[in-house]
Amino acid sequence: MDLAERVKEILEKYYICDECLGRQFHNIIPKIRNREKGRILRTFVLFSYLHNKEEVKIKKEGECYLCKNMFNKIDFYLNEIKKRLKDYEYNSFLIGSKIPKELISREEEFWDENGVDFCEAMKSSFNREIGYRLRKETKKKIKFENPDIMIVVDPEKNEIDLQISPLYIKGSYKKKTKKGKVQKLIENTLVKKSSASESIFYSIGRLEQNVITSCYRPFIIMLKNPKKRKLGLKKIKQEINKSKSISVSNLSYSNKDSLDEMKNEKITASYLATLEFNKKFGKEEFKEIRKKLISLRNKRVLQFLKKKTRKPYIRRLKVKVSGRKLIIDVESTVGFSINSFLKGKIKKLIGKDFKIKEIILKNYRKMKSHEMYS
Ligand SMILES: [Zn+2]
Repeated sequence: MDLAERVKEILEKYYICDECLGRQFHNIIPKIRNREKGRILRTFVLFSYLHNKEEVKIKKEGECYLCKNMFNKIDFYLNEIKKRLKDYEYNSFLIGSKIPKELISREEEFWDENGVDFCEAMKSSFNREIGYRLRKETKKKIKFENPDIMIVVDPEKNEIDLQISPLYIKGSYKKKTKKGKVQKLIENTLVKKSSASESIFYSIGRLEQNVITSCYRPFIIMLKNPKKRKLGLKKIKQEINKSKSISVSNLSYSNKDSLDEMKNEKITASYLATLEFNKKFGKEEFKEIRKKLISLRNKRVLQFLKKKTRKPYIRRLKVKVSGRKLIIDVESTVGFSINSFLKGKIKKLIGKDFKIKEIILKNYRKMKSHEMYS
C-alpha cells in the first residue's frame, strides 16, 4: 500500500492529531517535526480526495484517538516546568513521562492494525518534543546519563515531578581539637550554601571524638536536592577554616563514581596514642609490657562496635616509654576503634589503670593487593 493510501485509511477510521499522525511516519523523514509531517500528510490526503472528485470521508476533528490531546497540552507542561525550575541551578536535564497504560495498549493495537514500520512511540515523541522546546528556551543541555534534573511529566494527573541529582563535594580535613564536631561543621556549611534538603558524609575508617589528626582525612559529601550547584568552594574553604578546630583542603566537585571508589578502597590507618600512668615504669617492667604488646602484631583483634563484631588486623605496633607515659604507634586495617583497642586489649595486657592523654591519627595508606587477606 502506498503512503497516501495508508494515511487515507487511518484518517477514515480515526481522528488523530497532527502529532500522532506525523509520528506514525516519523522515520521516513526524522528531521521534519512530527506535527509538521502530520499537517502535510493530512492536507495531502484532502487534496487527493478533491483531485479525484471523491467525497471526503475522513473523521471529524475531536479528541485524538491515540493521545487524548496530550500533545496539545505541551505548552502548559512547558510553562509548569519552567516555573518549577526557577528555584534550581542546573546545567543539564532530561524529560521523562508517565504515559497512561491505557494509551500505550491502545497504541499497540493501532500498530497491529495500521503498521508500525516508520513510527515513533508516543512516550519518546512526547519526551523529545518537551525536551527540544525546553532546551531551546533555557539553553541548557539534554543529558541522558546523570542529568542534574530529571523532569517527569504525568499527563494523566497533570503533574510535574522533579528529581534533583545530588551534588557531590570532595575534600579532606584535619581535625585539630578533641572537642567540636568538625564533620558537622563542614556538612552544615555546604548544606546551607547549596540549599540542600539533607547531606550524607562519607569518609574512610572511623574517626572517634577524642582523636585528632595530623594527616588530612579524605571525605565526600552528598548533598541531596541542592538548589545551588555553583557554590564558590574557595570561599567556603576560607569560611570553614576560620574555625580553629578544623582545616579543610582540596575542596572540589565530585561524583558518585568517586564515592563508590572511596567506599571500596582498602585502607589502613596509623595512630599514635599516648597513655599516662600513675608511676614511672622500671626497665624490666617496661620490657615485659613491650613484649606483651608487640605480640599483637600481625594478629586480628576482636572488637564489638555498634552491636557488630569486627576483626581488624594489626599490621604494625611499636611501643616507647617516656617517664610516666607510654606511646603506642599502631597501624590497623580500617573499621578499627582505637579507643576500644586501648581500653580493652591493651589495658588487659598491661594490667594497670591509665589515662588516654592524646590520640593522633597519623596517616592512611592504601593497602597493596598482597596485603589484603594476610
Ligand atoms: Zn494525538
